[in-house]
Amino acid sequence: MRPAPEWNGSGDAFRALPSVDELLREPALTAGAWPRPLAVEAVRAALAAARAEIARGEPAPGRPALIERVLGDLRRRSRRSLRPVINATGVILHTNLGRAPISEAAARAMTEISLGYSNLEFDLASGERGSRQSHLRELLREVTGAEDGFVVNNNAGAVLLVLSALASGREVIVSRGQAVEIGGGFRIPDVMRQSGATLVEVGTTNRTYISDYEAAVTPRTALLLRVHPSNFRLEGFVHQVGLDELVELGRRLGIPVMDDLGSGALIDPRSFGLGAEPLVQESVRAGAAVVCFSGDKLLGGPQAGIIVGKRELIEVIRRHPLARAVRIDKASIAGLEVTLRHYQRGEALEAIPVWRMIACPVDRLIERARTIEAAIGSPRVQAAPMRAAVGGGSLPGQTLPSHGVVVQPGPAGSGDPAVILARRLREHDPPIIGRIEHDALWLDLRTVEPDRDAELVAALRDLIC
Ligand SMILES: *Cc1c(COP(=O)(O)O)cnc(C)c1O
Repeated sequence: MRPAPEWNGSGDAFRALPSVDELLREPALTAGAWPRPLAVEAVRAALAAARAEIARGEPAPGRPALIERVLGDLRRRSRRSLRPVINATGVILHTNLGRAPISEAAARAMTEISLGYSNLEFDLASGERGSRQSHLRELLREVTGAEDGFVVNNNAGAVLLVLSALASGREVIVSRGQAVEIGGGFRIPDVMRQSGATLVEVGTTNRTYISDYEAAVTPRTALLLRVHPSNFRLEGFVHQVGLDELVELGRRLGIPVMDDLGSGALIDPRSFGLGAEPLVQESVRAGAAVVCFSGDKLLGGPQAGIIVGKRELIEVIRRHPLARAVRIDKASIAGLEVTLRHYQRGEALEAIPVWRMIACPVDRLIERARTIEAAIGSPRVQAAPMRAAVGGGSLPGQTLPSHGVVVQPGPAGSGDPAVILARRLREHDPPIIGRIEHDALWLDLRTVEPDRDAELVAALRDLIC
């Protein structure tokens, strides 16, 4: 047992510490008008830490140091938990960093609808009750080519709802290579069980043929399901059945095809040197009866799960009790409407940040990286080529040429210098998130909006100069 502090000659240091009340009366603390319980907690914590230091034989902190610590603690405690960050990871759809940033117009619409009342479920023409879905239905038909659409709060909810409404108590046939985990604990076999449908896996992990599906069809088959393998890639000796073939089989046997696209691009990423991602319009045109995809992946809108397809099936989905449980909120409807209008007007590449980032020519990134390098003027910050990724369960394994700055860490006391540098940038306001490679911190500019470059420069100057 550690001896009581008075016995090792530090009693005076303890007695010299101010009391809780004395510290609370300090002008520097009263000036902030901090909520009293918060201030009391911060003062107690600072005094407890000081006593622990004295007990360890360290010198007692002076009053100014104590006050500084209390203020720092108060600022931390009263800071908002969910805050904007600068994403310099080069991963455009970074799930942990909030996936798709939305367009300014979409964000404005979300704010405006949240701040006041709206015609969310009110038909302005008749003055009677309306449907929140009415704001998106026409637009979805127009941009996807589908007969009808229905929107819920995310794509996981969409998949659960569709399976529950169309296949509960019956069977759904899926290729073994597509009975996958999407991430965040969303596994197709588990969702299937939750919906009350029975998963019938066909083929092998790497190869599935149309004959495998056909052999598995029974009178209890409700759906043929295709799941886009959005976060992994099978390579080598592989074969998956094309949507056309699946639709053809379904037509012959009278079984609808459901297509879970995951990302659901409306613009072809191949125009930007990326690989193919199934397009929503193509899925619809190929004859999938139900297609679902996320609002906040490649679509570039707010979180949402979008279901489009044949009118009579959408009607069954709409009436299912789960539809209410996974209902989309009014702000997301507002943001989604504006996002879809960007596509309708052919302005998606300029207006939607995700597509702006994908489409940005690398020359522009090189120019920005060199400007940042010059503004800091330290050998520790250098412009360098790097590879960015789309991420967020789209185009796995594929990268885009990019450019950014590599920051060499300075000498650190103890611990990994690059890790310490990364932490200090995370502690910046706003936090800056990069990635560590080759013992340095890489800041990729493809995911940083150009109007944030000045903040990057200021933060790096703070750190380095
Ligand atoms: C991302 C994804 C989902 C889940 O979508 P959320 O919008 O994150 O709920 C479902 N299926 C596939 C194939 C996905 O890629």
